[in-house]
Amino acid sequence: MHDIVVVGGGPGGYATAFRAAARGLDVALVEADKVGGTCLHRGCIPSKAVLHVAEVLEEVHRADVMGLRVTYDGLDGDALSGFREGVITRMFKGLDFLVSKRTTRHHGRGRLVTGDGGRVEVEVTGEDGEITRVQGRHVVIATGSYARSLPGVEIDGEVVQTSDQALWFTEAPRRAVIIGAGAIGMEFASMWRPMGSEVTVVEALERVLPLEDVDCSAAVAKAYGQRGIEVLTSARVQSVERDGDSGRVVVEVQGEVRTLEADRVLVATGRGPNTADLGADELGILDERGFVATDDWGATKVDGVWAVGDVRPTLALAHAAFAEGFAVADRIADVDGAQPVDHTQTPRVTYCHPEVASVGLTEAQARERFGDDAVAVETSSLRHNAKGILTGTEGFVKVVHRTGGAPTGAPGGGGGPVVGVHIVGPHATDLIAEATLATTWEAVPSELAAITHAHPSLYEAMGEAFQSAAGLPFHGA
Ligand code: NAD
Repeated sequence: MHDIVVVGGGPGGYATAFRAAARGLDVALVEADKVGGTCLHRGCIPSKAVLHVAEVLEEVHRADVMGLRVTYDGLDGDALSGFREGVITRMFKGLDFLVSKRTTRHHGRGRLVTGDGGRVEVEVTGEDGEITRVQGRHVVIATGSYARSLPGVEIDGEVVQTSDQALWFTEAPRRAVIIGAGAIGMEFASMWRPMGSEVTVVEALERVLPLEDVDCSAAVAKAYGQRGIEVLTSARVQSVERDGDSGRVVVEVQGEVRTLEADRVLVATGRGPNTADLGADELGILDERGFVATDDWGATKVDGVWAVGDVRPTLALAHAAFAEGFAVADRIADVDGAQPVDHTQTPRVTYCHPEVASVGLTEAQARERFGDDAVAVETSSLRHNAKGILTGTEGFVKVVHRTGGAPTGAPGGGGGPVVGVHIVGPHATDLIAEATLATTWEAVPSELAAITHAHPSLYEAMGEAFQSAAGLPFHGA
């Protein structure tokens, strides 16, 4: 009898297991494949490896501006694969070692069943069909998600693909149509464009990255336009068909019907939960969309059964899954002061070019929640920032804060707590670190303005935005 049986060895599952082990609990981990999940094997890690290649290539394309005579001779597909797969292998080896050290491993497909005495147990079917029962005081579902297609659109894997197949390219497509301008769609556009692909992104809503602040969406759409990526918003996909080696996507864009031809069609319209044949339906713990329904902690309505990660209807992000895993393990270990995850403080990061990162409320959400008069906004442009200029990317840091507080310049004065920060530009996904502290700690601009920021640096743009918000503009208005 283990303390916890975790089903699924992706970020949610192994974060739960590692935190539980650190709390002195005995953990079993059930995984049918290699540990690491979508993130390591077909998501975050390989995509970031290829995005890094694309970023280097962007620099090569503007090398002459910096006085470098560089000629680009095209992609070496084998070397690209070696690099991409090498990063995965290295990360996998480390993770696999830690899982072996910290958990009892069961290789096979887990299914929740009700055992003697009504306790939920995990039935594990191995590759050879052998069935083992694994018992624990608690069971944590961490089975992740799959790439969803659109109704009526068949993913053939060659021409019409999801990210599961598209990531493994050794040659960039000549012409690509990407359906969906969320994180996956925008990242693939940034990968392929510098490699010479003609790219069209088709988005149903009125802007790219629709969950981000409108200013971020507008800045990225503008940057994409300048780099020759066609972006069609408010576009309705009528059909997707394969014809030999090419695909045909028919879209209606503001009343006009267009037919887009491509040798690669990427469907990037979201992910669905892996809850089929898991036994969760029989336990009555799924919501109407098939996600595992839980409270804020991750507890289902069945005693001792929990869920973390993409299988829950929260943010489908690896670091959100980590946070949910830590919280569930701490709760089970009955740690004093443990807290459920507050996802308003979970940073959102998109590794497109330029990068986008944000935490907390968008300007529109803040105005809706607190009222127009109770919200103020400061934006610091990277156009005037030395590192921004030399890296050749435009962008900004936008700080959303509440008004009120003591008079400007006084400690705690010049504006109320920072409730959201939105960044577009190079290394935005790293720069969000300071912003996350600011929003999580409900810091006020004058406290943040008092922190010395290194010069020259990209993150001094954030310092300048805080200074302006505190009523103490430095270079800014
Ligand atoms: P998403 O939900 O982020 O974006 C899907 C987009 O497709 C949305 O903008 C939606 O409006 C659009 N869409 C839906 N139906 C459409 C249609 N018929 N025609 C045109 N557009 C349509 O999903 P995703 O980009 O597939 O990513 C899946 C999940 O993985 C997301 O939760 C995402 O946050 C996560 N992810 C995160 C990262 C990251 O953090 N960098 C990277 C990749 C994926």
